[in-house]
Amino acid sequence: MTQRFSFDLKATDGTARTGVISTPRGDIRTPAFMPVGTAATVKAMLPGSVRETGADILLGNTYHLMLRPTAERIDRLGGLHRFMNWDGPILTDSGGFQVMSLAELRKLNEEGVSFRSHIDGARHMLTPERSMEIQKLLGSDIVMCFDECPALPADRARLESSMELSMRWAQRSRDAFGDRPGHALFGIQQGGDDAELRARSAEALRGIGFDGYAVGGLAVGEGQEIMFRVLDTAPGMLPADKPRYLMGVGKPDDIVGAVKRGIDMFDCVLPSRSGRTGQAFTPRGVVNIKNARHADDPRPLDDSCDCPCCTGYSRAYLHHVFRSQEIISSMLLTWHNLRYYQRLMADIRAAIAAGNFAGFEAAFEAGRAAGDIPPV
Ligand SMILES: [Zn+2]
Repeated sequence: MTQRFSFDLKATDGTARTGVISTPRGDIRTPAFMPVGTAATVKAMLPGSVRETGADILLGNTYHLMLRPTAERIDRLGGLHRFMNWDGPILTDSGGFQVMSLAELRKLNEEGVSFRSHIDGARHMLTPERSMEIQKLLGSDIVMCFDECPALPADRARLESSMELSMRWAQRSRDAFGDRPGHALFGIQQGGDDAELRARSAEALRGIGFDGYAVGGLAVGEGQEIMFRVLDTAPGMLPADKPRYLMGVGKPDDIVGAVKRGIDMFDCVLPSRSGRTGQAFTPRGVVNIKNARHADDPRPLDDSCDCPCCTGYSRAYLHHVFRSQEIISSMLLTWHNLRYYQRLMADIRAAIAAGNFAGFEAAFEAGRAAGDIPPV
């Protein structure tokens, strides 16, 4: 096993890419989907079960973990991997995005963001330096720069000043991160939906130099059409020999469209959160297991799926345990959804390696257009 962080691009098909990120804690096959373990757990799943779905890497949230149980406590207990019993790679976000979406009484200035905890009202400060310190205490394998991410739509002056602040914070993040062999620091491109600002942001990040690059500031309310328009050019501004990560995305069709445009890594709460609200992803689109049509249906949720939910249980059972608010409902649907996402990524990787991404995309769209199997 390698002792350093590296990215090996294996094949391309158009602008879609497949490869392997090597880390001391294991390889990450790309394009990769990272399940979200917000509070040091992927909700309703044991870590070994998450691994069985095909996940190579998890995402942890700096904002949540710094407030509870605190990064210092996790460090004293041996780091996040030991604490949550996941020995594979972990990527942590910087806390910047969630401070802006969850915290109270935020004050943003050149130094960073001060805020009150949404849990107990305690006063905290996040700066590039503090974010690097927290992510180091957690023991994160892939550390994200501290940045500021405005919601869209935003006017150009706001996007420009925010992007420039994020680039100054990127330099401070790089300086504070230092030299940590085996650990990676990713820069985050900002600039909203403005191609010129995106290009300037990419140039600034390349000047600083990172182990990977994220396209930030998307999936913040702009819609798929604008997101794809940005992705038509943004990934190509970033170094081709480093991984590219689209933060917080997304729905299956968002992922397919972003892979097509050159993205290598994704994270989203959607498969786990939807599992808890009775929504299941299948090659034929989304199934709402709470619908009455499933009450007498002896068939599996998805007969093409090899997960414990689909091989062991009927739609009727899943409907029943969801309606009865049994814990196993969240467990089974989360497992299925995470497995669906990992099968999707495996199919994408195989198609790119075979030079047949267009064929994959056509089959993906045809399956969704066909819709769910008819009721019994
Ligand atoms: Zn399944």
